[in-house]
Amino acid sequence: MSDAIISDVIAHPLTQTMTRPTSTSWGTYTEVSMVLVEVRTDAGVTGVGETLARFAPKAYADLIETLLKPRLVGQPVSNIAAHWHTMRRSLSGRSGGMLIEAIAGVDIALWDIMGKLAGLPLARILGGMNRSEIDVYGAAINWVDDDEADAELARLIGRGFTNIKVKMARPVDEACRRIQRMREKAGSKIGLCVDANWAYSLDEAVEVGRALSDNGYFWFEEPLKPEDEYGYERLRERCDVPLAAGESNYSVDQARRLLANRTLSVLQPDVARAGGVTETRRMALLADAHDVAYAPHIGMSGIICETASVHLSAAMPNFRIMECECDESAFKVQIADLRPGCLRQENGRLKVPEGPGLGLQIDWDAVKHLRSQ
Ligand SMILES: [Mg+2]
Repeated sequence: MSDAIISDVIAHPLTQTMTRPTSTSWGTYTEVSMVLVEVRTDAGVTGVGETLARFAPKAYADLIETLLKPRLVGQPVSNIAAHWHTMRRSLSGRSGGMLIEAIAGVDIALWDIMGKLAGLPLARILGGMNRSEIDVYGAAINWVDDDEADAELARLIGRGFTNIKVKMARPVDEACRRIQRMREKAGSKIGLCVDANWAYSLDEAVEVGRALSDNGYFWFEEPLKPEDEYGYERLRERCDVPLAAGESNYSVDQARRLLANRTLSVLQPDVARAGGVTETRRMALLADAHDVAYAPHIGMSGIICETASVHLSAAMPNFRIMECECDESAFKVQIADLRPGCLRQENGRLKVPEGPGLGLQIDWDAVKHLRSQ
């Protein structure tokens, strides 16, 4: 394998109106954005990455092209760890926010190129676990009225999911009612978990957590705001349901405490937020060292985030299950030709792509069509 020299970094800000709005404890989303990062090389090999940029995608694109690109052009692709640190030090202050999300898109693209140069799928470049398929769960049944929730449950079960996530919000008595009702509707054979998107105070989370353990839910995701590590530690002592979090963390530093004391049972970094493949792998492996499972977050992100996460899932020893957002997002079904996004899973399993790098063929006409105005 010979190396290649980075010749250009292009950021494509994309926006779409969602076919089905997403309703969580935060409210309802009808429009979502991302940035597709294209890294070109002198060898003619191009890599693609994705930056989580739910809002203001043009600001992220500007950050990538004006701050990060000049530090990379002319450099060999394979020094990815060095590139990560150079990009990280392009701004001072603690790590997080837009910079780390911007780095994520570039970093994923560099790993895509590495796989293509080697002629191997990314999962194997990362030190594969010899997995050809991974487990996924259906996400999500939204915070909607009972009839709509029943329809979403039936739709997800109809698509073959055996594990399903349910969004919860306030008030607590209503959440507890829905938790019990959803268990009765789903029956005992469907695995259920809950995502609260930081809806609760500590005392409220204890009450909801009790309803979850009484009804056999397999995890309680982001019950508290991500900065409240002390709250998570207290909650761990006061409820039995396993705690999951990590989609709001940008780096291994922000996950360390809750991993080291095993407050979390499951860590859920998002590769398009947490600094790309390089940092997400560090987070997953630190979790593994503390016997905490790795379960990638996808949410409203696109096919590149999803596919990079599939490769990480296939390579990390502590992988448990990956989120599969079952919408018809243009970011999943139009940008790349890897079979339509939400239709690829069968019986709650997803095949690991076998092509080199991410294994994606980008439809550049679709990218142009989705460009943010
Ligand atoms: Mg979540």
